[in-house]
Amino acid sequence: MIDVHCHLTAREFAGRVDSVVREASEAGVKAIITSGLGYSDCLKALEISSRYEVVYPALGVPPYDLSGYERVMELIEKERGRIVAIGEVGLDFWRGGREDRDLQRKVFEGFIDLAKSLDLPMVVHSRSAGKYALEILFSKRVERVVMHAFDGKAAYAAKAAERGFMFSIPPSIARSPQKRKLVRRLPVDSLLLESDAPVLSPTPGELNHPKNVRVSAEWISRLKHIPLEKVIGRTTENALRIFNLRLKV
Ligand SMILES: [Zn+2]
Repeated sequence: MIDVHCHLTAREFAGRVDSVVREASEAGVKAIITSGLGYSDCLKALEISSRYEVVYPALGVPPYDLSGYERVMELIEKERGRIVAIGEVGLDFWRGGREDRDLQRKVFEGFIDLAKSLDLPMVVHSRSAGKYALEILFSKRVERVVMHAFDGKAAYAAKAAERGFMFSIPPSIARSPQKRKLVRRLPVDSLLLESDAPVLSPTPGELNHPKNVRVSAEWISRLKHIPLEKVIGRTTENALRIFNLRLKV
């Protein structure tokens, strides 16, 4: 299993990253991609990933707090050889006010151009903005895209999957009919596992962990009538392919 999206830099994991990573490895997680959210969090993501062979960094800035995004862009260029993706970046029309939307779009487009020029995949956040984020990505002809915790319509997702976009499924699928719809609609070759730890746990109010990607795999197995081991194998191959990852352990 590969956890393609989480936040080991989160306050909730301070001082316990060692045990969080160890427990994930013991549960069969072969790689964890931790995403930086803004400049200082990105530095932390780089630092944490330098300490563990199974942890890989992605650098981005959340669309609901774009402060310092230029510095994150510079950092991405500088660390291009160490990072496996740009993200998370995207649009958030749930938190962002109407007047923010133009800036969100402009910055998202900037990150898209950067990803294309550096040939890096993108991990895209698109809360209450799935359709809009996909439209921008389509118009810019981006190819290597992971839509994380996609909350939009399954029909849009299916169109994106036809273009090779991937969708990472969080453990909150255990309590989300929308995520189950998404999994039913998409081919298994478009699916990845993510935890988005510390959030999106299978049980509301509980702290989420990267090891919980198994819950996502179990749900995919159940919904698509594919044996669990096969789901694990296929989603792992999908992740290795889109992130161009070579496992170190
Ligand atoms: Zn996230």
